[in-house]
Amino acid sequence: MKKNTVGKVYLVGAGPGDPGLITMRGKYLLERAEVVVYDYLANKKLLNYVPKTAKFIYAGKKGGGLHAYTQEGINRLLVDHAKEGKTVVRLKGGDPFIFGRGGEEIEDIVAEGIDFEVVPGVTSATAAATYAGIPITHRDYTASVAFVTGHEDPTKKYSNIRWDQLATGAGTIVIYMGIKTLPLITKKLIGYGRSPDTPVAVVRWASTPQQRSVEGTLGTITEVVQEADIKPPALVIIGDVVKLRSTIDWYEKRPLFNRRMVVTRTREQASELVSQLEERGAECLEYSTIHIEPVEDYSLLDQAFARIAEYDWILFTSLNAVTYFFKQLYASGRDSRNLAGPKIAVVGRATAEELLKYGLRADLIPQKFTGTGLAEALLNKQVGAGSKVLLPRALKASEILPETLGDAGARVEVVPVYQNVPPQGRKEELREELEQGNIDLLTFTSSSTVTNFLTMLDPADDAELQQLLDGVTIAAIGPVTAETITERGLGVDIQPESYTIADMVEAIVHHYRQAEPEEA
Ligand code: SAH
Repeated sequence: MKKNTVGKVYLVGAGPGDPGLITMRGKYLLERAEVVVYDYLANKKLLNYVPKTAKFIYAGKKGGGLHAYTQEGINRLLVDHAKEGKTVVRLKGGDPFIFGRGGEEIEDIVAEGIDFEVVPGVTSATAAATYAGIPITHRDYTASVAFVTGHEDPTKKYSNIRWDQLATGAGTIVIYMGIKTLPLITKKLIGYGRSPDTPVAVVRWASTPQQRSVEGTLGTITEVVQEADIKPPALVIIGDVVKLRSTIDWYEKRPLFNRRMVVTRTREQASELVSQLEERGAECLEYSTIHIEPVEDYSLLDQAFARIAEYDWILFTSLNAVTYFFKQLYASGRDSRNLAGPKIAVVGRATAEELLKYGLRADLIPQKFTGTGLAEALLNKQVGAGSKVLLPRALKASEILPETLGDAGARVEVVPVYQNVPPQGRKEELREELEQGNIDLLTFTSSSTVTNFLTMLDPADDAELQQLLDGVTIAAIGPVTAETITERGLGVDIQPESYTIADMVEAIVHHYRQAEPEEA
């Protein structure tokens, strides 16, 4: 059978903005993409599903600078990559076939005889209505809904839209791309008989932490939008169903909506904290201060491999140590069989499980999963004078383990196999956010998150630190963390009674409920 060397193009709806609103099928395809061509309106977080080895192409029409493609250019990209045999995902905001030029993009693909598939998405109209608390249809108000573009091809001589019929023909009218033309549209609808008192809502960046919505009537909405300075992307929802918003509005009512928070990542805690805060409507900026990289020189490790049988013990004190140790073992042309001889000890269960992935069972796991715990366990195993121990680990790490064993007479060879480096590039971003007053709250779940955060922020002195954090609320999980914060001359505004993530989140919610006299 002849192997098919031509790839396939998947036109995938990214949904309206909330990354949780992509379809399972869409996610499945992103996870297998070799090339992904994405839009301005597709949430960038979705790109995390795409393998790092894939080619990422931004084809957005907004803010694209250098890389903004014409429609023909995009079509060319899809066709060319498919012809190279690639699996191409074309990721488009909302639904590809609703004002998304999905049809146009497919035409060239069909003409070239390339295989394709289309995956629908949650269109922004329904998402905007839902996230603004508006049921787009309702038995008491309307039995029909029309999706309309407010941005017709300007070269067209006659309008494709029968405004005369639409004005009273559809119960709910949702207009995409209608902000610029809003004065014209409202005038037309009123002119063709729709009451100027018809309720209207305009929703910008629907289903994202930046969502903003305003309300008015067909007669007033143009002015309301101008006054509130609502810019695209936004949707205009026209019809009596908009009245229901006063009872159903939920998304913008979540207790932490519109609050931007910094979460400094430590390996285990951050994702839990982020998801709990996001569940309550907060926007979280995650800063990971730890980034793992290989070391520059593996010759020490290679020498250790060459005389591995001489060691009595190999010690692994982290998952990363296991990962990088085996990477280099394989790179040197060896595998796990070459490790016969020495016994293996690990710091804890997770490291033992990692080791098992390489076909090796740990001989020793201490009761207490710490360096000291491991040292004690080894001493109990008669590790001492004359013992030879190999300790592959981070470039910088605590010296307790090698020192304790060394004191007992063991010969410990410390071999760096990876390093923690501060991630580049985010410092400026963090500073800018703070300088512009875009951050409401800093969260700290341990002393090391405080230290890491301050290291990353790298203020020139205490005065600059104070200035950067002026007006920013600070939450600490417990007294030890709080002390680290106050030692740096900063105040702690929020601290839960018991030291859990859940209690901390509740304390944050409580803080904002108290602080905020309900706006009218
Ligand atoms: N295919 C997309 C629509 C693309 S046209 C879909 O199905 O949603 C682009 C227009 O969609 C924007 O001008 C705006 O009117 C609307 N839009 C897209 N995402 C939006 C969002 N998150 N919030 C508000 N409007 C949005």
